[in-house]
Amino acid sequence: MVEDNLKRILEELPPEVKLVAVSKFHPSEEILEVYRAGQRRFGENRPQEFSAKVRELPDDIEWHFIGHLQTNKLKYVLPYASLVESIDSLHLLDAVEKWGREHDKVIDVLLELHLGAEETKGGFTQDEIEAILSRSLSGVEGSGVEGSGTEGSGAEGFSHVRFRGLMGMATNTDDMAVVEADFARIESFKRSLEDRFDLPDFTELSIGMSHDWPLAVKHGATIVRIGTAIFGPRVY
Ligand SMILES: *Cc1c(COP(=O)(O)O)cnc(C)c1O
Repeated sequence: MVEDNLKRILEELPPEVKLVAVSKFHPSEEILEVYRAGQRRFGENRPQEFSAKVRELPDDIEWHFIGHLQTNKLKYVLPYASLVESIDSLHLLDAVEKWGREHDKVIDVLLELHLGAEETKGGFTQDEIEAILSRSLSGVEGSGVEGSGTEGSGAEGFSHVRFRGLMGMATNTDDMAVVEADFARIESFKRSLEDRFDLPDFTELSIGMSHDWPLAVKHGATIVRIGTAIFGPRVY
C-alpha cells in the first residue's frame, strides 16, 4: 500500500528534510491516495502531464518540476511550480527569466549540477554554475536587494529567478561507493558556493531517490525525490 510505503519513509527521514513524492506516470487516483495519507509535495517531469495533474488535483499541493524543460513548454510549468528543480542550461535559464519578467513573477529554481558519470545526463558544470551566480550577483548589486523584487536590477542579472540551491542525480549504479562520491562532491561544491557568494536564499540541496536517499541525507540533502519506493514501479 502506498500509505505504508510513505509512512515507512517518513519514519526514517529527518523531519527537516523535505520529501517530494515523484508521481510521474502514476494516475491522479494514486496521487490522491498519497495525498490522503498526508503528503502535500509532489514532483512531475513532463510538462503536459504536470499541468494536467495540477488542474485535476487539490489546490494545496506544492508541485515541483523535476524534468527536462524545453523553452516552448514554459507555460505548462511556470504558472504552477513552487520550485523548478531542473534548470540545466543557460538557454533555459534566460527563457525562464524572460517569462518571469513578462508575467511579473519570480520563479524559484535549483541549478542542476551534472553529477553522474553518464554523458547523457543533463546539467551544468561547476564552472558554469559559478559563472551564473556571479552574473546574478553583479546584476542586483546596489539595487537595495531586500524585497525590492522586480525593480532596480541590471540587464545582466536575474531579477525574475530566485536561486534556491542545487539539484543532482548520482550515477546510475548499484555501487554505493560511486553514488556516495557523487553526493560528497555536490555537498562540498554547495558549501564552497555558500562561502564565496552572498546568497541567503541558496539553501536547498536536492539529491537522493528511492534507492539512495539515506546516503543523500547523510550528505546534506534538504530535499529527496522519491518515486518508486512510494508508488511502486512505473508503467511506461
Ligand atoms: C523519476 C525521478 C526521480 C524518482 O526516481 P525513483 O527511483 O523512482 O525514486 C527522482 N528524480 C528525478 C529527476 C526523476 O526523474
